[in-house]
Amino acid sequence: MVTPIPALYGSGKLESKYTLKAQAVERLMMSNGNEEWDGSFRFRELSKNEKLRKLLSSILPPEQYSFSDEDRISYSFGKSSIEILAAKLGKIAEPVEAVIFPDYATIEKLIKELDPKKYRLIPVGGASSVTGALSFSKGKVKIAVSTKNFKRVEFRQNYVILGSGYTGMEAENILHEYGFTIGNFPESFEYSTLGGWVATKAIGQESNQYGGIENLIMGVKMIGSDGFYREEYVPRNSEGMDLKTLALGEEGKTGLITDVAFRLHKAPARRFFNSYFFRSYEEGIKQISKMKFYPSILRLSDEVETSISLDGEFDSPAKKLYEGYLKVTGARNGSMLIVVNNNVPPPEIPHKAISAGKSPAKQWIAGRYSRPALGNILWKRGMIPDTLETSTTWSNLYNVHKAVQQRFSDQIEKEQAKGIIMSHISHIYSSGACIYFTFVIWREEEQMKLLENVRDAIMRAFIENGCAVSHHHGPGRYLDKYIDEKIRSIRKRIYDPLFSED
Ligand SMILES: Cc1cc2nc3c(=O)[nH]c(=O)nc-3n(C[C@H](O)[C@H](O)[C@H](O)COP(=O)(O)OP(=O)(O)OC[C@H]3O[C@@H](n4cnc5c(N)ncnc54)[C@H](O)[C@@H]3O)c2cc1C
Repeated sequence: MVTPIPALYGSGKLESKYTLKAQAVERLMMSNGNEEWDGSFRFRELSKNEKLRKLLSSILPPEQYSFSDEDRISYSFGKSSIEILAAKLGKIAEPVEAVIFPDYATIEKLIKELDPKKYRLIPVGGASSVTGALSFSKGKVKIAVSTKNFKRVEFRQNYVILGSGYTGMEAENILHEYGFTIGNFPESFEYSTLGGWVATKAIGQESNQYGGIENLIMGVKMIGSDGFYREEYVPRNSEGMDLKTLALGEEGKTGLITDVAFRLHKAPARRFFNSYFFRSYEEGIKQISKMKFYPSILRLSDEVETSISLDGEFDSPAKKLYEGYLKVTGARNGSMLIVVNNNVPPPEIPHKAISAGKSPAKQWIAGRYSRPALGNILWKRGMIPDTLETSTTWSNLYNVHKAVQQRFSDQIEKEQAKGIIMSHISHIYSSGACIYFTFVIWREEEQMKLLENVRDAIMRAFIENGCAVSHHHGPGRYLDKYIDEKIRSIRKRIYDPLFSED
């Protein structure tokens, strides 16, 4: 029997809104993938582990475990391009043997019964990871732990304790009632969970105002193979590696996060929108690096990303107006800057920025969580879209953009493939910024090899140019090998035996 399981991100509801943009990408690629894929993964029936069924049914109530093929597959892959392509080709890495849905009481009971030498627990939140963090090879018997039953809310003075299984959107809806916000708005906000944010060291679109997840949390509640750790919700400590550090960015290998304590921020009363053009990306980077004030959201797109936004995103009268205006100002092939500031108008405008009104920034906000639908269209048409991101200092940013562009086109030529690459700057700091690359590639044959080689070429350009392995997606399975060997072996020493392979 073959059952289709959705492999792409999101519900697919908004895909029709991004058809024009997809066409703009195809024009630049000089190719349409010539293919039709419905976006689902078809697989053969999986064998069942009867011993595990006996064990789980003796500890958990029936509604808290599942051996269905559909659950086992759905909880065994994330949303990285490697995983999506593998699913399209009908293969995924080793599926988990069971999925469990424990609550605060049953997780403790279960962990006491599991031998860490035989079993491995894999926490799964929204399964929106883009690094292969949910993809494993053979080894211990693997059980996915869904966090969906870890849901509780406890307001304290100026902070709140929330269950790790809430999605970002669910958590914000709760806080909104009281006029508060957490301040973390990743593009995956509708699906990714609070526990997942901590475990991947995520960051949101308004990070210039609120910071990354490491700045937003006071502490966590976490369970490892020896039971729950002592909770510690304090403004600061001086204890070396604390529980929070053990949880942050370790991708579930140090234990299961069941609660997260967040500092409370007052929700903004108003937003101010502005958009600008620079004559070039290089000019934009230079001017932004000199700013003294960073707005809540700032996003500078390179020339390719700007042209796709203009071609595909603005309705036609507005687009025509912009095109005329830009021609006069000489910035048609320029670089677009979106600025959104909470509560007050941004006190500073970067030099040499040409005002482009409010509309591009407003439209960007309207699509802030739905833009991945563009990737889905491209996948369905046979293309391979992907992203890799890093961070570096201001003086290195434009060099990195150029180096990656060059490495990408050399690799595409070598592979006899087609491809386009673009980047934008977001998440800015006084010392530098995150640079986020989006690329779309295509070749008829050996697509997985092509994808792996192109990713490797970009990653090598990052490392050789002194950049971070990742600014916010985390290393996961695919980027771990680029981390310094000495650091990797130190990190392994803190992994929990029940939540890791060794
Ligand atoms: C379209 C799209 C847009 C994205 N945008 C952003 C963005 O703007 N910013 C950003 O930082 N990331 C982004 N991501 C990446 C991803 O959403 C984040 O890494 C997110 O934090 C993952 O959360 P999740 O709940 O989906 O975790 P999952 O994918 O379920 O898990 C990711 C890792 O965390 C571990 N984990 C999950 N929950 C727990 C827990 N409770 N305890 C311990 N370990 C746990 C898992 O074992 C796994 O190793 C995006 C991804 C997609 C597909």
